[in-house]
Amino acid sequence: MEERKGRRIIMFPLPFPGHFNPMIELAGIFHHRGLSVTILHTSYNSPDPSRHPHFTFRTIYHKKEGEEDQDPLSQTKASGMDLVALIRVLKKSYEEPFRKSLAAEVVGGETVCCLVSDAIWGKNTEVAAKEVGVGRVVLRTGGAASFCAFAAFPLLRDKHYFPIQDSRLDEPVIELPPLKVKDLPVMETNEPEELYRIVNNMVKGANSSSGVIWNTFEDLERLSLMDFSSRFQVPIFPIGPFHKHSDNLLSMTKNEEDHVTTDWLDKQDPQSVVYVSFGSLAAIEEKEFLEIAWGLRNSEQPFLWVVRPGFVRGTEWIESLSCGFVENIGHKGKIVKWVNQLEVLGHPAIGAFWTHCGWNSTLESICEGVPMICTPCFTDQRVNARYIVDVWRVGMELERSKMDKRGIEKVVRSAMIKKDDGIRERCLKLKERVNVCLSQDGSSSKYLDKLLSHVLTFDPYASASAS
Ligand code: UDP
Repeated sequence: MEERKGRRIIMFPLPFPGHFNPMIELAGIFHHRGLSVTILHTSYNSPDPSRHPHFTFRTIYHKKEGEEDQDPLSQTKASGMDLVALIRVLKKSYEEPFRKSLAAEVVGGETVCCLVSDAIWGKNTEVAAKEVGVGRVVLRTGGAASFCAFAAFPLLRDKHYFPIQDSRLDEPVIELPPLKVKDLPVMETNEPEELYRIVNNMVKGANSSSGVIWNTFEDLERLSLMDFSSRFQVPIFPIGPFHKHSDNLLSMTKNEEDHVTTDWLDKQDPQSVVYVSFGSLAAIEEKEFLEIAWGLRNSEQPFLWVVRPGFVRGTEWIESLSCGFVENIGHKGKIVKWVNQLEVLGHPAIGAFWTHCGWNSTLESICEGVPMICTPCFTDQRVNARYIVDVWRVGMELERSKMDKRGIEKVVRSAMIKKDDGIRERCLKLKERVNVCLSQDGSSSKYLDKLLSHVLTFDPYASASAS
């Protein structure tokens, strides 16, 4: 831990685990290097500050307290989530309150050296940062390859890839190899035009920033990072994987359920369990849920399955499983509401990760050398899955549209039993490359040094005027 430098970083995460977690991990990295950190966070999905005692937390309210019943955000949540609409509402609701909060933070106290905002906030944070004379660096919590695909949206629209036609799903996107049409990072929404607006605004906001921090590493995404740098005149800092910079970055507070999960894993054979989780946002239909349940059961492989409350549309939790199902699986399978995923993936009992390919899950699996079964649901998950399967070749594909119990049984058995397809060896090699990039002379360590001198010395007006 370095001495405090009397400098403070202000961070503004997007309030979803896949965005908040890496921002907090990055905060840990800054703190470890002697900077103070203030997290400005939305009242929506507000975090528990006591879990992160090293940072100062400030809540931004989008309206006066005590008016929750008229809260447009709680209505969005209740009405079943259209993520695009939710992000639109979040951006609009917090733009002005964020400006005020940032201005209040910059007055007095330690010198604020810069704002780190999630790239999805887009250009919304730019005006606020300029007003108070603070530089703005963005954090992209997804990978570089998917960002390049997002940046190509205007071109892809001109070339009539959008809206995606079912008849073209398996065609290659010649402008973005190795992607196929079905891999383009879109999602089902009632507001497709808004999706394009959010994406374009994210790309423009990154382009007009003073730098982009990536939770990725050069050896993994070299070509995509080069592609980004050839198109955008913005310094890049691929310093990931964040959570591997120090074992002490995150206080691994464990709850009762975590202990029960670990005890169960401790009783399993090495590499015998398939871990199943579709992250914090994806939702599936009840019919799909039942296919997954029976596919896992019939595979006869031990499984640990995270079913978040709300994951299965129209149900509370797992009540749509027949009474006999849970008894039937006995000790072979375990269904839980949430796990400490970093710990689960690092457990020797885990043999494969059936994932929706969110970027954090992808990186976390790569870091632990765990092969993946890839069932992407929306946006960047589709790009990540293509890279996992065809570029890094550390996983196999299980398309959501083709996901029935027989197909699931087959893929799970093949991932767990067939060990001569080279996937496991490639996983271990990739894991080694993570360690190299994080070593003292590794690319992520060097980029981190550059990032620290960048945020401590840069002139916010220099790059802002270039935009
Ligand atoms: N996660 C977790 N426990 C779970 C499921 C997910 O800790 O039971 C964490 C996971 O480690 C990852 C994040 O939630 O850091 C999910 O992010 P990701 O980008 O994979 O997917 P998203 O939730 O954004 O779709």
